Amino acid sequence: MSNLRNIPGVDEVLLQDEIQQILLTYNREFVVKKIRESINELRNELQRTETQHDKEALTNIVVLKVTNKVREKAEGTLKRVINATGVVLHTNLGRAPLDTEAITNLVALTTGYNNLELDLTTGERGSRYDHVEDLLLELTGAEAALVVNNNAAAVLLGLNTLAKNKEVIVSRGQLVEVGGAFRIPDVMRQSGANLIEVGTTNKTYISDFNNAVNEETALFFTAHTSNYKIVGFSEEVDLKDLVDLGKKSGIAVMQDLGSGIMYKLDNWGLAEEPTVKECVEAGVDIITFSGDKLLGGPQAGIIVGKKELVQKMKKNQLTRALRVDKLTIAMLEATLKEYLKKTPQENIPVLRMLTYNEDDLKLKAEALYEVIQKRLRNNQYIAKINIVELEDMVGGGAYPTYKLTGWGVEIEFKEIHLEKIAKRLRMREPAIITRRQDGKLLLSARTILNEEKEIAEAISKALQG
Ligand SMILES: *Cc1c(COP(=O)(O)O)cnc(C)c1O
Repeated sequence: MSNLRNIPGVDEVLLQDEIQQILLTYNREFVVKKIRESINELRNELQRTETQHDKEALTNIVVLKVTNKVREKAEGTLKRVINATGVVLHTNLGRAPLDTEAITNLVALTTGYNNLELDLTTGERGSRYDHVEDLLLELTGAEAALVVNNNAAAVLLGLNTLAKNKEVIVSRGQLVEVGGAFRIPDVMRQSGANLIEVGTTNKTYISDFNNAVNEETALFFTAHTSNYKIVGFSEEVDLKDLVDLGKKSGIAVMQDLGSGIMYKLDNWGLAEEPTVKECVEAGVDIITFSGDKLLGGPQAGIIVGKKELVQKMKKNQLTRALRVDKLTIAMLEATLKEYLKKTPQENIPVLRMLTYNEDDLKLKAEALYEVIQKRLRNNQYIAKINIVELEDMVGGGAYPTYKLTGWGVEIEFKEIHLEKIAKRLRMREPAIITRRQDGKLLLSARTILNEEKEIAEAISKALQG
């Protein structure tokens, strides 16, 4: 019982030197709240123990608790991560890492003021959407463009603007769900459009679309089945055929491209997917895609297509709710400018990672191996370190069946549980996300960005406990 009497009060804790120190930086209300929480925790803990503590000891415990709580909050929860998984567009790891140009532009334009909505030639009010539109038209050949918060928003806006209370025809093979619970049928419902499913899961013909057309039909919708593939006895309607049918029947075609590539990756074996420009050239009326997938920029939903339709979307009240901020525009503009250059893969990390040739990757794996070997070779917990060939992935719902040959380092430990090491690596700052396979830790070189030394150091620390 005397333990409880020895618990310090808030005022007493506030007088402690360490707390006074904290109060120089942090606001009093926040610190007092942490003190109250700490005192309550201590009270609960003391009810479960017989050991007696004097007031000084209990005060020290509270001070330590408060210090930890304040530090934890001050650190935040969003942390830098080293991606050693070999999955280039990892949705859980923030998708595309940004190019330095994007960040430089972001800092230059947003630490002060900018002309987000000011036309500098007239001095009149301008539109935030003008800033990246020209670049998008240049790069895709489209008539008009609009950028919103993300691709889900772009699809919602497109359907709501062009097909609210009307019918949208979609193949049953394309009623997809992509990461983060984006389901085409659900988005369709949210938009107010009526979904008309045609064909079957594995086969849909152009005649299925044709037969479903009536006076209520507003759109033909096609979604890139970005995260899966129906293999075997399957058939999807050719984009060209759909566009032709659309023209013939006066119905617009909207395509959710998902990843949306701007730069041909054929030379690196990634030839399956059409570029945005190719889709525009095929005559698709509205195309939507993400800013932070294969484009390699910030989160955004990019809409390109026919001027008249994009114009309608700009006027939709929903656009105001889905609008992008200056941060996105600053980063997106810088990323898009890279695509005017001959070799965008030099500056856009996602493209760089996907266009390594095998020799470069092997060299990267060797460099990683050297650093790790040097740091850990005499460690008692290391059984084996090897350079290995492995399978990397594009990720982000692109090239679902395509395995990229990767190279990396494999570590086999002894007398310590692999999952324990993996967890310790995750809990570090920066966190390191790895792959485990056949009882070994795998580090893929493809997605590691000059982080070899940090990785070796972190493994060494993780083995110390
Ligand atoms: C990723 C994806 C989306 C969602 O895009 P976000 O930018 O994450 O909103 C929608 N459709 C397809 C086909 C996708 O691949």
